[in-house]
Amino acid sequence: MKIEKLKEEIFSLKSLLVLTGAGVSQESGIPTFRGEEGLWKNYNPQELATPYAFEKNPKLVWEWYNFRREIILKAKPNPAHFGIKKLEDIIPEFLLVTQNVDDLHKEAGSKKILELHGNIFRTRCTKCNRKEFKKEILREIPPKCKDCGGLLRPDVVWFGESIDEEIFSKILDFSLKCEAILVVGTSAVVYPAASIPFIVKNNGGKVFEINLEPTQISEIADISIFGKAGEIFQKLT
Ligand code: NAD
Ligand code: ZN
Repeated sequence: MKIEKLKEEIFSLKSLLVLTGAGVSQESGIPTFRGEEGLWKNYNPQELATPYAFEKNPKLVWEWYNFRREIILKAKPNPAHFGIKKLEDIIPEFLLVTQNVDDLHKEAGSKKILELHGNIFRTRCTKCNRKEFKKEILREIPPKCKDCGGLLRPDVVWFGESIDEEIFSKILDFSLKCEAILVVGTSAVVYPAASIPFIVKNNGGKVFEINLEPTQISEIADISIFGKAGEIFQKLT
């Protein structure tokens, strides 16, 4: 019933912003950060995903990223990723903003996408800024730059780091002009991503949400559907 209503709303839109988080990849077998005891060697991901942790122990941080690369390399996009790609094909003005670093949206074919928190398969040299994208597990860690010998880091945004300004300004432009936002599988507690649905709402846009459970977005949502994103997208698209 609610899904039918959402379907009707979404398919009549001329512009849509989709914001996704770790929940969209959960059914692909990639653990989310919150809501699950994703313990790894007794470390908390939030303590590993920081510039401080990398400075202190780059090898340990790389071990963790290699471990995550391994899980992600085995994963395939699920019906939520494919459903979002379908919306891109149908809705004239479309933008997908993902907080995920797992590359699964691109694997599902998404083209109009901005990766707010980077990509786990891209490295960045801490000395010369050289970037390289390779879908593999790194053999030697911590890896070194081919050009300058500098230490390579994952090209992702860590806690305490800021979002690429150019990317955020593109998102802001779209948020101000779109008719609606669909928020899928994000706890919406990481800023500035969490502020995007509020910007859309304040500009008269509609807010739709798909999540396992209520979040702070639910309070401003026109329609919230609680359940697994992949299962819901199978009915929606
Ligand atoms: P989060 O772990 O904080 O929250 C996940 C949200 O998804 C929760 O609200 C949960 O209720 C919901 N959820 C879980 N399974 C779901 C399902 N099958 N269907 C629908 N909803 C489901 O994740 P976040 O909000 O993305 O923020 C965490 C940060 O961690 C992000 O910045 C992201 O970069 C990073 N992260 C990325 C990945 C990935 O790339 N796959 C995985 C873990 C964390
Ligand atoms: Zn370099």
